[in-house]
Amino acid sequence: MKEDKELQQLIDKLHRERNLSHAEWTTLIAGRTPELAEYLFSLAREERHQYYGHGVYVRGLIEFTNYCRNDCLYCGIRKSNLNANRYRLTEEEILSCCQSGYSLGFRTFVLQGGEDGFYTDDKMVHLIRKIKTLYPDCAITLSIGEKSRESYQRFFDAGADRYLLRHETYNEEHYSRLHPACLNAKARQQCLWDLKEIGYQVGTGFMVGSPYQTPEHLAEDMLFIHDLNPHMVGIGPFIPHHDTTFANEPAGTLELTLFMLGLIRLMIPKVLLPATTALGTIHPRGREMGIQAGANVVMPNLSPTSVRKDYLLYDNKICTGDEAAECRHCMERRMESIGYHVVTSRGDSLNN
Ligand code: SAH
Repeated sequence: MKEDKELQQLIDKLHRERNLSHAEWTTLIAGRTPELAEYLFSLAREERHQYYGHGVYVRGLIEFTNYCRNDCLYCGIRKSNLNANRYRLTEEEILSCCQSGYSLGFRTFVLQGGEDGFYTDDKMVHLIRKIKTLYPDCAITLSIGEKSRESYQRFFDAGADRYLLRHETYNEEHYSRLHPACLNAKARQQCLWDLKEIGYQVGTGFMVGSPYQTPEHLAEDMLFIHDLNPHMVGIGPFIPHHDTTFANEPAGTLELTLFMLGLIRLMIPKVLLPATTALGTIHPRGREMGIQAGANVVMPNLSPTSVRKDYLLYDNKICTGDEAAECRHCMERRMESIGYHVVTSRGDSLNN
């Protein structure tokens, strides 16, 4: 019991000072209990209500290519997965996703994909300009991996507003156990600093419960996120994919993912925090619970149903058979069932 008291004091300290030391983060994460989690979530909700009320921002996710030159050990669309059924949407198909998304009320389009050489910088610039011309009131978010600073600058100049690039794990040794030798933690982090300097609204994040992850690693993730002070933080449980190195590793838990969401909300009260599809995959009400732990964004899928099941980063991914409109309305019902409501505006971050 005494221990619980100490941990509660750490939560209070985090609430007051917005950060903890590496040792304190580790102690709190490793020592968490269901009671502490409830306490954390009640504070996290208070913060979230103060800045964002009961609104939940929606982003229309367009998974436009699953070709990837990378070989991240956890990812179902890694290059060496020869069983992946590869596809890429054409510019017209992407624009048609935007069109149906726009009429459903989406004002943010997230273009996510593998690192696909077909989509050169020139092609991306063309696409971004086109979307911006057709939908000037919408925000464009890119999530297409590591690029040179020059490329990021070109996309930004063409009209991209935001960029999502999870740092995945801050710890270099841990990073190298999840990625091929040609990738490293520092290079990925440098991309985030570049993106921020260019002027993007930047999102980072990590997987919860990835293989070999320890509370110490999560503590390092929290310190890095504090330093970077991003506009968004995307976290979700690691979920094994049957055709990857980590096929037989256990998935990250709902419980730890929710706890980390609450901690992030307390550390950066104004940050945009999605309740991710992966969270909805490990529990039928995972996204709702994510919102109740402090999250304030959801990202329904706008990709054509014909390709949904091929953008399989992990097994059992939800909503692979639903039309965009179904996803949009399902989300509305889900949020209303817990006393929240979907907001259809650009939903820019208040953390800037
Ligand atoms: N190519 C882009 C987009 C990656 S996919 C990039 O490099 O940023 C988006 C996110 O999905 C990744 O950042 C990773 O954190 C997550 N992801 C990949 N495989 C996963 C898995 N098996 N379980 C859970 N999340 C996974």
